Amino acid sequence: MNYQIILEQIHSDITPLLGQGKVATYIPALSIADPNDFAMTLHLITGEVFHVGHVQKTFSIQSISKVFMYCMALSLFEDKIQGRVGVEPSGSSFNSLVQLEYENGIPRNPFINPGAIVIADMLVTHFGELADDEILQFFRNSCDDFSITINQEIAASEHDSGFRNLALASLMKSFGNIHNRLEPILDTYFNACSIEANTTQLARSILHLAHNGIDPITSNVLLHPQHVKRINALMLTCGHYDASGEFAYKIGLPAKSGVGGGIIAVVPDVMSIAVYSPALNSHGNSLIGTKALELFAAYTGHSIFSKS
Ligand code: GLU
Repeated sequence: MNYQIILEQIHSDITPLLGQGKVATYIPALSIADPNDFAMTLHLITGEVFHVGHVQKTFSIQSISKVFMYCMALSLFEDKIQGRVGVEPSGSSFNSLVQLEYENGIPRNPFINPGAIVIADMLVTHFGELADDEILQFFRNSCDDFSITINQEIAASEHDSGFRNLALASLMKSFGNIHNRLEPILDTYFNACSIEANTTQLARSILHLAHNGIDPITSNVLLHPQHVKRINALMLTCGHYDASGEFAYKIGLPAKSGVGGGIIAVVPDVMSIAVYSPALNSHGNSLIGTKALELFAAYTGHSIFSKS
């Protein structure tokens, strides 16, 4: 398959759509993103890499960090997560308070904000106030790139505008599902969301999820195969908030989005993918990024449900 030609075709197909969707503004520092930016990287487990668009452009990974936080939590806490965070699709938006009230402060899954905040609480219990640094190191290690940093301006902007996340954390604390002080937990969560990467680095960071937990380039073991199965299953069922069903239906690949405009996706045993375009659809997922993955699935036939 000629992946470079497929990427170029996708680029030309999405170009007329640029301008649709809206860049996130509820975190003020995200609002300066250029809605016309687009980049896509495919990283094959053989080591070959294909790119199209503005691939050097870095952006904050936002909710994609929830995948890395959960990878760490699975390795460290395994069964202790059960009872504090579920593994069911939420059918709600990423920052909804309503479901949490009905369900006694137990978030449906780790890929919505309250779920990641509980995981941040568990990481703070384990690492103390250095938890954010541990997440950054884990991400750097997954990319095999130690130049990656946290965008402090975005983290501060999230902190200053994070009233809903504060409300989610407070509500869960009132149910006894948060064990530490709120401040270090939210700082950990905001800093993880503010990790900056480009599509090349992001695709590289999840290559092990396409290769049974082993980085095929360095041969480093990053995750237990059983945990890879769980992460990929959760990305498929919960990776796009209340649009997860539609994403699985149309694209059929484990994937996770972030409000910064990034989406990661895994084709097991073949490749990892990262796409960036900051204008979002009404579910808070990259509009063009979702479209690009839809085209990718159509042109290549890659899906976990069928072979073409
Ligand atoms: N930092 C964002 C928030 O807490 C993450 C949301 C997302 O990427 O979906 O609202």
